[in-house]
Amino acid sequence: EGITVDELAQKINHTPAEVIKVLFMLGTMVTINTALNDEQVELICLEYGYEPKKIATVDETNFEDLIEPDKEEDLVPRPPVVTIMGHVDHGKTTLLDYIRKSHVAEGESGGITQHIGAYQVDVNGKKVTFLDTPGHEAFTAMRARGAQVTDIVIIVVAADDGVMPQTREAIDHAKAAGVPIIVAVNKIDKPGASPDRIRTEMSEFGLMPEEWGGDVVYQDISAKKGTGVQDLLEAITVVAEMAELKANPNRAAYGTVVEARLDKGRGPVATLLVENGTLHPGDPIVVGTTYGRVRQMTGDNGRTLKKATPATPVAITGLNEVPEAGDKFMVFDSDKTARHIGEARAEKKKEEERNTTSAMSLDDLYNQIKEGQLAQLNVIVKADVDGTAEAVKATLEKINIEGAKVNVIRSTVGAITESDVLLASASKAIIYGFNVRPTAAVRRKAEEEGVEIRLHNIIYKMVEEIEAAMKGMLAPEL
Ligand code: GDP
Repeated sequence: EGITVDELAQKINHTPAEVIKVLFMLGTMVTINTALNDEQVELICLEYGYEPKKIATVDETNFEDLIEPDKEEDLVPRPPVVTIMGHVDHGKTTLLDYIRKSHVAEGESGGITQHIGAYQVDVNGKKVTFLDTPGHEAFTAMRARGAQVTDIVIIVVAADDGVMPQTREAIDHAKAAGVPIIVAVNKIDKPGASPDRIRTEMSEFGLMPEEWGGDVVYQDISAKKGTGVQDLLEAITVVAEMAELKANPNRAAYGTVVEARLDKGRGPVATLLVENGTLHPGDPIVVGTTYGRVRQMTGDNGRTLKKATPATPVAITGLNEVPEAGDKFMVFDSDKTARHIGEARAEKKKEEERNTTSAMSLDDLYNQIKEGQLAQLNVIVKADVDGTAEAVKATLEKINIEGAKVNVIRSTVGAITESDVLLASASKAIIYGFNVRPTAAVRRKAEEEGVEIRLHNIIYKMVEEIEAAMKGMLAPEL
């Protein structure tokens, strides 16, 4: 595991005997082959005036450890990645289809538009990438797995309907992810459409339109007829420009799996979204816990690609196994390295599955506060009536103990749902149910995701419980 006394001594140009002596003086007996923990390494480094960071060991199964940061001058603008969310039947699919049909050019002879999970369009010479799975479920499932690929969220609201439960959920998810929101007010062709009423309703959730002095872009559209869609696309490019999204196309690629399946003839097929660098056929690659060599690359228009630059979705073959949506991928310099890293990651995942850890629990809370790690506890509140949800939220947000605060990321009326569990998992939150309970299926999901659900019916009991947890006095659960 850790660096040995001998290795550390070499790195800091001292003899192993000196290192052993320093540790002995501090009360620890070690030999030349003892593997040191981080704290011991730090003590030795401090003793001899070194920065411990410089000799920190790299975790080869963690892509983040392996990614060399880019130099500022190598970065160029990249297209935004957009997800469309909103209530069922408000027109998400119609909008995605309209944009695809009107903007994705069919490939050369034989090439036809393919559904690979994402597509890219051209808006006055600027590219925009759309994830093809509408709704917040896929978005949040990916985020729960540590993958945040979306740069901008479009929330579609039907002008003849209004803000509905899933509209509110979409707002919560987009806000929790911290990405800019554009509101598309849809179905303005319908009689009874009232775009201004939508603006008023959405403003109540903190989405004040620009034209009313706020900072959220609204665009009236008819996804069915195409009215306003070009303006919406242009608005996306403007918001993207403000976000200054950048990447370095001149490096080995890394990014995220958007979709994956097993094709009878071609084997595992994965749609990758390049986050940084450029992907080429022949690249040795690790994807999640599988690996291989990129064989064929196909774009959203069915055309074979010779390269995929940042924010370009591409379907690849050549992997040993089928990865999962949300998995990260990274290109390596040789097949041998890819194989080695892939196998190490698979091994590590098995290990992790053996000791399933929870997303966040009240028991963890005190330990984290003690270590000075956690400044806030994220909480989702579900209650049987609106008044209760509001009261619980207000009470929780007043708690302030040991410098730790409670942050209510969602508070709504209704049963505890799978969507709540996914949001909790993605945001490391605890769910509080007030006079409501989860179904068996939701409970299972929570167990799977390691999300803690606490049920109460008296507010002060709940507050007592949280305060006790913050002070490390939580009574063991019965
Ligand atoms: P989703 O569930 O959000 O993906 O909604 P869909 O895209 O499936 O749309 C639901 C229904 O609304 C379909 O019957 C669409 O034809 C219809 N629809 C979507 N957009 C518009 C629009 O702009 N105008 C009208 N009149 N109908 C629309």
